[in-house]
Amino acid sequence: MTRPIRAVIHTAALAANYAHAKACAPSSKVFAVIKANAYGHGIANMVAALPNADAFATLEMPSALALRELGVKQPILLLEGVFSAAELQLCAHHEFWLSVHDERGIHWLESTVLSRPVHIFLKLNTGMNRLGFPAEAASVLVERLKQCINVASITLMAHFATADDPEQGVAAQCARFDAACADLNLPVTLANSAALLAYPETHRQWVRPGISLYGSSPFSNKSAAELGLQAAMTLSAEVIGVQELKAGDTVGYGAGFVAARPMRVGIVACGYADGYPRHAPTGTPVLLNGVRSRLIGRVSMDMLAVDLSDQPEAGLGSEVELWGKNVSIDEVASAAGTIGYELMCAVAARVPVFVEF
Ligand SMILES: *Cc1c(COP(=O)(O)O)cnc(C)c1O
Repeated sequence: MTRPIRAVIHTAALAANYAHAKACAPSSKVFAVIKANAYGHGIANMVAALPNADAFATLEMPSALALRELGVKQPILLLEGVFSAAELQLCAHHEFWLSVHDERGIHWLESTVLSRPVHIFLKLNTGMNRLGFPAEAASVLVERLKQCINVASITLMAHFATADDPEQGVAAQCARFDAACADLNLPVTLANSAALLAYPETHRQWVRPGISLYGSSPFSNKSAAELGLQAAMTLSAEVIGVQELKAGDTVGYGAGFVAARPMRVGIVACGYADGYPRHAPTGTPVLLNGVRSRLIGRVSMDMLAVDLSDQPEAGLGSEVELWGKNVSIDEVASAAGTIGYELMCAVAARVPVFVEF
């Protein structure tokens, strides 16, 4: 038998979450953001789940090429643009759309011979201060790019730093964008998942949800279920060992957990080398044979321990959901001091992935 751990990808949930995005922004087109191997869910699974997606957005050239190899005919946007003039030629050849965020990117557009013009997304900085031209430069840049024979069309793009934070929101960044760009009469894309769900004024022509498609909440104060999102991944493993503890016995590295009374502990075939967060503390929820229980002691590389005390029938072979439809990935992330994004991206290559249609 193989090691009993698996990730199951729920394609129906991916499709439902995409439909939810479409329903939230009925007048916009929706990019399915599939960077980082579709946030750990597998690019091919995402393509299979969303045959009718309006478009896909990704990060690096190999993943864009992989989409075309999977038969994707829809537009594909490179969110960080290209990293060389040679990649720009690939964009023309494969009809990839690309963001242009700095002078070097414009220089490549103006100085490279392309087989056909490309659709570009002019990335403007409205306060995130990561990539992008200052929003105030938009009109000058648009005039310049309109002169460039390699540019087929221009869409304006910006990204929010605090759309997930109800206190800070999007108002300042939206105002800066609109002050600089309202008169340009070009299509616009601003919204990530948080803005899509919370700020309809950001929807514009295109929205770019990632995390919500995978059934995790972008907000710390609102659960995915409250938002109407469905978990798209279940990570589960089995109990491969059982220990009977006396009061005072400890569990795991560092002897960090001390039994207050006699108890039973299940050792589960999942550790931080599988992508489970090492910093998850005692008490982090798990689902044991369909009933909630808790992690105990320190997570090791290949194993973790769960409390069997309240379930006398649980033992060797019992099924443990680490996260999924019952224990949300956001609960586990929050217990471990991180966000659902990081956990889903970190599921290790050694975890077998199964697709549920
Ligand atoms: C990752 C990314 C998104 C998606 O963000 P979520 O918070 O996952 O919805 C949107 N736009 C850009 C530019 C990104 O890099």
